Amino acid sequence: MKICSLCNAHDQKGINILQSFLCDNCLERISKTGVDDPDYDKIVDGIKKVWQTNESVK
Ligand SMILES: [Zn+2]
Repeated sequence: MKICSLCNAHDQKGINILQSFLCDNCLERISKTGVDDPDYDKIVDGIKKVWQTNESVK
């Protein structure tokens, strides 16, 4: 079962990035969110966490 690394949604369509998975909802949010958006920091933090997780897996 795939679980989104950002929102923890289960069984969503999405893509695998390295060892992690991002659902379509989050990908869309990322693509639509600008730096002025209050959610931007949250999303960036989530992506950083995904990246750090993958770094530690290596
Ligand atoms: Zn998601």
